[in-house]
Amino acid sequence: MGVKVQDSKIYLPKLGWMGFFNSRLIPDGFTIKAATIRKRQDGWYVSIRIEDKSIPDYLSKPLNEVDSILGCDLGITKLVHLSDRHQIDNPKFSTNKKSLRTLKIRQRRVSRKIKGSKNRKKAARKLGRFHKKITDKRVAYQWDIANKIVSRKVDAIALEDLNIRTMLKRCRVKTDESTGRFLKNGQSRKKGLNRAISDASWGELILKIEYLAAKLGKVVIKINPRHSSQECRKCGHIDKSNRDGEKFICTECGHHEHADIGAAKTIRDRAFKIVRGDSPELAAVSS
Ligand SMILES: [Zn+2]
Repeated sequence: MGVKVQDSKIYLPKLGWMGFFNSRLIPDGFTIKAATIRKRQDGWYVSIRIEDKSIPDYLSKPLNEVDSILGCDLGITKLVHLSDRHQIDNPKFSTNKKSLRTLKIRQRRVSRKIKGSKNRKKAARKLGRFHKKITDKRVAYQWDIANKIVSRKVDAIALEDLNIRTMLKRCRVKTDESTGRFLKNGQSRKKGLNRAISDASWGELILKIEYLAAKLGKVVIKINPRHSSQECRKCGHIDKSNRDGEKFICTECGHHEHADIGAAKTIRDRAFKIVRGDSPELAAVSS
């Protein structure tokens, strides 16, 4: 027997009927596909996936008919740079100064209380509530910008394939030849960067973009991001020193532009190559 919802009651397999706060009504004609139960700081949450088989999804254009693509370059200073020169801010919900300070204070309050005491639990709950508030804010913001990106007048959205990207960015582990011990390879110094990256939650944002794109019948093309920020868009010269912070200046031909907007354009152009069939670099296409 599957999941059922009736007013303010929900039926879950093995658990039976129970009361719950029905925050969003399930529209007529939809059937429940799955339910996910999650424990969060302030209680148990259930999210329900629904499906309407009577309405066909928008049909996305076949790849060879795509003629406009928006390239997106994900970052930290700005969350997204678009190939149409727009930039989307990164509010750094959990790593901005104010949040870091509050987190530190609440964390300290927990650790100063006696283990197992009621006060400690109370302080821990308060810390947890703050974490949840940050998450809620980030989720709402991401839906908002995913919506903005997807509603541009384009047939397709081009993104980096993050799986490949993390593979490329991760530091290699180095070992000392004589002792066989691990050497410092800069990974620990990257702790701050890693935190900022996880605060940006690119993966979560991409999922939202994919979801909304599918609803609007737009194609999402994932490209291999290799050298996307080091390659000259004019002459194709690839060089680490082409990039100087925000600026891109080709050491070969002198071509210069804003580095991240250039990267977004490169992502867009690589997607065009895939669409036109002259690139073997297809990472993934979803529609
Ligand atoms: Zn060049």
